[in-house]
Amino acid sequence: MKDITSLFGSMVFNDNVMKERLPKKIYEALKKSMVQGTHLELDVANVVAAAMKDWAVENGATHFTHWFHPMTGTTAEKHDSFISRAGDGSELGSGIIMEFSGKELVRGESDASSFPSGGLRATFEARGYTVWDITSYAFIKDGSLYIPTAFCSYSGEALDKKTPLLRSMEAINKQAIRILRLFGDTVTQHVITTAGPEQEYFLIDKEMFYKRPDLVYTGRTLFGARPPKGQELDDHYFGAIKPRVSAFMKELDEELWKLGVLAKTKHNETAPAQHELAPIFTTANIAADHNQLTMELMKSIANKHGLACLLHEKPFAGVNGSGKHNNWSISTDTGINLFEPGETPHDNAQFLIFLLAVIKAVDEYQDLLRLSVASAGNDHRLGANEAPPAIVSMFLGDELTEIFEAIESGSSYQNKEKQPMQIGVSVLPHFPKDTTDRNRTSPFAFTGNKFEFRMVGSAFSIAGPNIVINTIVAEVLRQFADTLANSKDFTNDLAVLIKKTFNEHKRIIFNGNNYSDEWIAEAQKRGLSNLKTTVDALPEYTSKKNVELFNKHNVFSEAEIHSRYEILMEAYCKTLHIEALTMVDMVKTGITSASVDYQRELVDLLRQKKAYGGTTIDCSLEEHFLYTISRLSASLYENLVVLEKAIIESKEERDILSQAHFYRDTILSAMSQLRFVVDELETIIARKYWTFPTYAEILYSVV
Ligand code: ADP
Ligand code: MG
Repeated sequence: MKDITSLFGSMVFNDNVMKERLPKKIYEALKKSMVQGTHLELDVANVVAAAMKDWAVENGATHFTHWFHPMTGTTAEKHDSFISRAGDGSELGSGIIMEFSGKELVRGESDASSFPSGGLRATFEARGYTVWDITSYAFIKDGSLYIPTAFCSYSGEALDKKTPLLRSMEAINKQAIRILRLFGDTVTQHVITTAGPEQEYFLIDKEMFYKRPDLVYTGRTLFGARPPKGQELDDHYFGAIKPRVSAFMKELDEELWKLGVLAKTKHNETAPAQHELAPIFTTANIAADHNQLTMELMKSIANKHGLACLLHEKPFAGVNGSGKHNNWSISTDTGINLFEPGETPHDNAQFLIFLLAVIKAVDEYQDLLRLSVASAGNDHRLGANEAPPAIVSMFLGDELTEIFEAIESGSSYQNKEKQPMQIGVSVLPHFPKDTTDRNRTSPFAFTGNKFEFRMVGSAFSIAGPNIVINTIVAEVLRQFADTLANSKDFTNDLAVLIKKTFNEHKRIIFNGNNYSDEWIAEAQKRGLSNLKTTVDALPEYTSKKNVELFNKHNVFSEAEIHSRYEILMEAYCKTLHIEALTMVDMVKTGITSASVDYQRELVDLLRQKKAYGGTTIDCSLEEHFLYTISRLSASLYENLVVLEKAIIESKEERDILSQAHFYRDTILSAMSQLRFVVDELETIIARKYWTFPTYAEILYSVV
């Protein structure tokens, strides 16, 4: 039995290691910088770097890397070894020493020109630099010391996902503190955003994976008829975990624990071959780092077990896709969760104000929440009866909704209270926490003491969605703080604010079934936005209202928003382009030959049968299939030509928005037409000629 407590964090230069290895004064200086976000002096950095290097070398590291989160949504690293020439360097062959300076720790240079910058590159310098995010610990992986860093251009533009996330955490900190002060809290110094992302994924046999170019190149299957058995029996969800999967999960847990990732829950998900891992929540920027590590390790450890891990949002049509539930809350540095309803009238009032801030923020910035989860992959999932629709709404639970309604109308809550609910005077009635989490169809659910944003795609970095949530809530908290700042009668003004806000924004609350058609009609009546695809959602990024929001809270400059818009639109087009090319390739080199081979076999047999028995022998079956396949082959060819023509047309000069429209309306629809024919063929052509593994083979391959 391994000692998990000593395994946990053993590859992390964490607080314990720092305390142990750094002189007290240096440790305190570093801690101060970490907590207050102040600049790290070079003499402090030098001592920290030396200690870090010694620790890393003792633990088998030879290299270090500044690890960052470019706008591709994945991570980037470039490794340098610790070696330097010994002596003054004048004498060759005098051996080496292992060195690491404070300068190397704190700041690195990186050629930014190969990372997407969405126009920032043109305006600013190509060079970028990375700076250590001292609030996220360094760690050792594969023989390298990883230093989590932010990535910026020389003129200070954020070229990554970490910088704006840190800025948004600062924005919400600033505004939440203002609210806390109004409620008389003089103790809290800092408010922290927390996140706990539940990660869904598929595990399939590696051999199957490599036999499907679509999985290899695009992460999803572009063809595939439905298997006779899907998820209809609901026998996979929480089912017994198969030994091979279990071995994978065990190793994954251990490797994550070594890196300080709080991997907690693992289970089978709804679809066959689908699973989930949930960590214990932590500070949002560390959670974002850890989720990236989790996704990376899922892939590499799967590979070691002869498996392939699919993180795509919709690897198999007709089978549930994968999402990532982003659990989110804010808490004080003293450890108080601000979405925990308190025990006293005073605590209750504060809780209600924070809760209302989220309600208002979600209502006013539906578009930003929607676009923070927009991608070509997630478009297949949102609104497909398995994930929340593209309409953003909020689940509050019946109890809380009734409480707000009672406050709004000045009536008593469920007649349980003799007096009407009075803000700052009455104690909230207890509502049992577990009953708030029954609704699993809501895109944004209040689950007792945190929110669960369920629209996030499985392959996403959680940085984007958290940047949006933090910033929109910061903005509403700012408005509330401004309103209440000069209040003469705080309790009364607070009650007025709560009533008014609830009245204006209650349309966003929906406690029913989000997957139903009635909801779509109802949402339209309420005037909620329904941005169905990525191409509909992304242009909202650059709207006046959203640019102002991000500017005001120093999260994104206007140029930074435009760059992100461009990058995401380009990624959408590129994804579809690669999918279209892969499809054409598979049809031409695999599916056509399967169809031809089977037809040849049928023709040969028919010829032989007719030569043998003339008209006396029944050939109806062979003829039926031959005619059907011939007809489908003609249709295959026709649709292939349409797609190929569209691919050529895609090269015409267009602005990025028209280009994205072209991909959605022309390429994607040509792809689905072609797919339809191929999936028909798959159900008829003899299996021996079909070289691509079928859905049944892929989904039930791991035992
Ligand atoms: P479920 O969603 O399956 O009911 P839980 O409610 O137990 O499961 O928690 C799901 C996720 O929410 C976990 O990753 C957990 O760490 C995270 N979580 C719990 N509390 C918070 C919080 N205050 N802030 C952020 N995430 C949280
Ligand atoms: Mg959940």
